[in-house]
Amino acid sequence: MLGDTVMDVLARQHRMQGVATLWVPGLDHAGLATQVVVRNYVEKQGRRWDDLSRPEALAEIGRWKEERERHIRAQAEAGGFSIDWSRYRYTMDAASVRATREAFVALHRAGLIYRGERIVNWDPPMRTAISDLEVEHREEETDLVFLRYPWADGTPGGLEIATVRPETIFGDVAVAVHPEDDRYRDAVGRTVQVPLSDRLVPVIADPAVDAHFGAGALKITPRHDPVDREIFLRHPQLTAPPELFDESARLIGDWVPPAYRGLDRAAARAAVTRDLAAGGFLVRTERYRHSVARSTRSDAVIEPRLSTQWFVKMAPLAVPAVAAVRQGEVRLHPARWELTFYRWMEGIQDWCISRQVFWGHPIPVAVCRACGADTVSVDPPAACAHCGSTELRPDPDVLDTWFTSWLWPFAALGWPEPTADLAHYYPTSVLVTGRDIMFFWVARMMMAGYFFRGARPFSDVYFTGMLRDEEWRKLSKSLGNSPDPLELIRARGADTMRFALLFPNPAEEDGAFGDASLDGARNFLTKVWNLVRFAVPHLPTGPGALAAPPRIERGAALESRWLLARYRRAAEDVDRALAAFEPSRAAALLHGFVWHDVADRYVEIAKDALAGRRGEPARREAAAVLGFVLERTLRRLHPFVPHVTEELWHALPHDGDLLAVAAWPSPAEAPPDPEAELEMEAVLDAIRLLRNLRAEAKVPAAATPSAWIRPAGPEVARVLEREAPAIRRLTRVGALAFLPADAPAPPGAGSRVAPLGECYLERPAEGPAARAGLERERERLAELLAKTRGRLADAGFRARAPPDVVAEAEAKVRDLTERIRRIDDHLKADGSGAAEPA
Ligand SMILES: [Zn+2]
Repeated sequence: MLGDTVMDVLARQHRMQGVATLWVPGLDHAGLATQVVVRNYVEKQGRRWDDLSRPEALAEIGRWKEERERHIRAQAEAGGFSIDWSRYRYTMDAASVRATREAFVALHRAGLIYRGERIVNWDPPMRTAISDLEVEHREEETDLVFLRYPWADGTPGGLEIATVRPETIFGDVAVAVHPEDDRYRDAVGRTVQVPLSDRLVPVIADPAVDAHFGAGALKITPRHDPVDREIFLRHPQLTAPPELFDESARLIGDWVPPAYRGLDRAAARAAVTRDLAAGGFLVRTERYRHSVARSTRSDAVIEPRLSTQWFVKMAPLAVPAVAAVRQGEVRLHPARWELTFYRWMEGIQDWCISRQVFWGHPIPVAVCRACGADTVSVDPPAACAHCGSTELRPDPDVLDTWFTSWLWPFAALGWPEPTADLAHYYPTSVLVTGRDIMFFWVARMMMAGYFFRGARPFSDVYFTGMLRDEEWRKLSKSLGNSPDPLELIRARGADTMRFALLFPNPAEEDGAFGDASLDGARNFLTKVWNLVRFAVPHLPTGPGALAAPPRIERGAALESRWLLARYRRAAEDVDRALAAFEPSRAAALLHGFVWHDVADRYVEIAKDALAGRRGEPARREAAAVLGFVLERTLRRLHPFVPHVTEELWHALPHDGDLLAVAAWPSPAEAPPDPEAELEMEAVLDAIRLLRNLRAEAKVPAAATPSAWIRPAGPEVARVLEREAPAIRRLTRVGALAFLPADAPAPPGAGSRVAPLGECYLERPAEGPAARAGLERERERLAELLAKTRGRLADAGFRARAPPDVVAEAEAKVRDLTERIRRIDDHLKADGSGAAEPA
């Protein structure tokens, strides 16, 4: 929903700007992930997945996919995302099948796809290889078993070896030591016996052995460890081992003593450890914390396993993708992700693309039973391309889902067919996605784009942050803190959800999402709603009424000139933020402009004019300015909150049928007016100071005390005197007088100093009740002061808190001290003057 909201903001804005904007929706088949989920679902119902026939299993997956697809589409529709559903694509549809096969064949022809025997990450419950990116490394504690391999010649003693996987000893082909390890100089060349087995293996020397791990000797199990395999390949005299585990990680093969054959690895580990102890081979075990690789699909511990798989050679494909980011041809937002991108791309490993599941695209290779050669073809072959035999065995594996998804930017537009969409929309412009799939998807799409199309797939990538709940936990289904978007939209409205996703948290950072942000968004939308409803009866009517910006005559009201200038500035800032891929900053700017400038300031000041109390020309002017600013602001808000703005826009005089296709307004429609902005600042300051004085002296709401301003200079004086009626009205001041620079301060008035000058407000007469109130207030402030000081005195707080929080606390201490001092002054003055007649 966050990603879709960002995409929709960008799509709607560009559509309004007249750019041919296309948002292609699609769904990927998520091969392995889907198979895992459906398998769990089936087993939860008490059926065994393995008992299902292939068509039955495919039917289960098909049903599940249909249901998810409906749900995902319903969410996107409810969110109001401006997607072109007529171009909906699915990574298993006929065009995707063709694109996937074409891609495989082209890469194979280019020598970039090969079949190889490698140690892969094997997921035993899923019975498939998975890619490095699907493996998660976690610190876990397991038993480190120290065991002794006796000398084959019967000499007492033997070699001590440490392992966390004692069940793999039956796959050993040697014991290796470091060539410079003096402890074992005499051992090299001798033979040891594999415990619990009658097999003898040589002791070899290899520099890859870590002499500091355990006792410094390493058992070599080439089919189940990449380092062991490298050592094995360097020592050709060693016997090649048979398979040790089947695909479910059960012990198999001639090298495994019959007692352990058929046990799965966990049961085997327990049995082997027990028997090692009974047989006198076990030296000791200790608890050991180390990094354990687990499958993100099944959560099972990965079994490194030698197996034959298909790989894509990535290094040559990575070259143009890295260059594209370095040269700014593809820009990442936020740019700090470039470092992560480079780090991964520069150490890129070949990509294992075959999966031993059935939910996915079959590998487009058939092996000839007659001559043994591969036939690699886009269309399933009828005969062997090498000998013509029709005895072909299709490769039983399927492709990693990402092997289809990485083609998305052009495959979704029709590739390999030369479609009009492909010609018109490729290269595309923007990709919005989560940073967690930067390598799974983003980097690979770039590689595919340059290889298959000779051009970047997109110019800009925007990585959204991750949403958390209000306790800063990741939103997740298992924690139950991740709201269902459909329910959320039903309860809160799509626009509220959309705005809350972008504001107040920056969308590109991790942010808290919950009732607080939703309430904030709702309050803002209510404010917009009320503002337009308030304005509508005042506005000019008829077509074209708001088509042009209002003409501002000489002598126009300051607030009108100011609002137009502020609008221009806000509009420019919003456009700049959107161009810089900062949608949240744009939302915050609009929020501030509508709430503070239009609603709180302008409408308050212009209320009289709008109501006609300052004459017809003033009324017309205020209505034209407010109408113009609201109409243009609704357009700018539209990409963020399309439903409420569309509705409100139709209540305003407007031209055109739909706000969604109205033009994006240029900030330049409104004139710049720095003078008005400066003058208004003085007026707003005066209002703020007098209001503060009012609040401080607890002046009753109905009272209209006198006020004085001693302006800082003649310019300010001129402006404030001109705007005195507005200032009086907004501060509910009775009389407002302007003091010359040398006049004494009015006696008994509270005062405030600001750049505009000094403001004074008459204090109301006070009785004992007011005095008691002040004393209570003083007590409250003193308590608050003690608490804040206590916080600052805590060294831990100062060390942990961000500098601005500390600064804020320090400012609070100063402010509270000053307020207490003023109350003290007041109480003193009040006490001495109590006997005087009022
Ligand atoms: Zn053949």
